[in-house]
Amino acid sequence: MEKIPFVKKEQLEAICARYPTPFHLYDEAGIRATARAVREAFAWNPGFREHFAVKATPTPQILDILREEGCGVDCSSLTELMMSERCGFQGEEIMFSSNDTPAEEFVKAAQLGAIINLDDYTHIDFLQKTIGYIPETISCRFNPGGVFQLGESKEGFQVMDSPGDAKYGFTRLQLFDGFKKLKALGARHFGLHAFLASNTISNDYYPALAGQLFRLAVELERETGCDIDFINLSGGVGVDYRPEQPANDIYAIGEGVRQQYEAILVPAGMGDVRILTEMGRYMLASHGCLVTRAIHAKHTYKEYIGVDACAANLMRPAMYGAYHHITVMGKEDWPCDHKYDVVGSLCENNDKFAIDRMLPRIDTGDLLVMHDTGAHGFSMGYNYNGRLRSAELLLQEDGDVRMIRRAETPEDYFATLIWDRD
Ligand SMILES: *Cc1c(COP(=O)(O)O)cnc(C)c1O
Repeated sequence: MEKIPFVKKEQLEAICARYPTPFHLYDEAGIRATARAVREAFAWNPGFREHFAVKATPTPQILDILREEGCGVDCSSLTELMMSERCGFQGEEIMFSSNDTPAEEFVKAAQLGAIINLDDYTHIDFLQKTIGYIPETISCRFNPGGVFQLGESKEGFQVMDSPGDAKYGFTRLQLFDGFKKLKALGARHFGLHAFLASNTISNDYYPALAGQLFRLAVELERETGCDIDFINLSGGVGVDYRPEQPANDIYAIGEGVRQQYEAILVPAGMGDVRILTEMGRYMLASHGCLVTRAIHAKHTYKEYIGVDACAANLMRPAMYGAYHHITVMGKEDWPCDHKYDVVGSLCENNDKFAIDRMLPRIDTGDLLVMHDTGAHGFSMGYNYNGRLRSAELLLQEDGDVRMIRRAETPEDYFATLIWDRD
């Protein structure tokens, strides 16, 4: 589908008159609409809750919006737990799905009453030693090993991760032993979690994963006698970064999971199991964009457009070769008859937002919108080359724009340095 920015050029120029580029801009109306669609798609499951993966967009006003829409959070570090606490999330609204977990993070998660999702068998003893007990509600992350494949894979669908190569989760055998051990140590309510593929563009991913986890849950309950309270499908639902990609249909996904539930859990007498999700990308990616201005045009062996953002503001293209669609504002109807590398200023040749991209002629001063940066965009930013993180702005439902994070200043960059000289 054609990718159209959620702001018009005039609106964006007005925003840029108040806030210098580059910045990330989020669309409140879009975020709310997606959160409502997700809730509706899983409304057949009374205990359903989406726990937004905080790492995707760790900004309080974004978490507030999602909380108002009934979401919880998924945290994987101490500071994410602290931010969630400050935003008013409490108890089982917080999922703590971490790995290689430091002791103080288990302490904080337990103090908040978060649901702890253990990544490894040895973490059972580690948790017990660290906090002195095993919580009544506990979850374990499963890794089936091998390669995750869908029964019927759709065109263009590629599984991004092989579970057998991923560092996460318990093996199947460890899961059975782990549940028994946790039960003996006082756990009463059990959860099962798995994250097997990332950025999937197929309505079949969640249903296929659900089928696998539901069957396992039935076996686990039978063999260990543990009461399985919830199944967490985690993240991995993708967005259509490229215009030619089909978008996921969350209603079809919810319905696919429901069919598995009816076919596997209900006949086993497990029709009270709650479904949880931990989506980051699906919730936010398409509701954020990176706004940047063309500041240079360079003509050497290739045609380069230099913009005022760089990989420090959006790392995915440099890190994964990820595609982010670019709209040159005001030139939407111009022919895409120029081939450009759109680059940032880092002294790293992978600092390219686009390579050999066909775009309309770009003049310096043009505003460029990089699409779908609302998740894993700002949050993966870093300070290489002394580059500073940008501001984050929220386009509110009422049309006003509010700054929700200021841009870093050099003082921020220097703040952690020890100036021990006179
Ligand atoms: C990153 C992460 C998510 C979110 O993944 P998305 O692909 O953004 O949906 C969910 N759960 C865990 C444990 C994660 O690490």
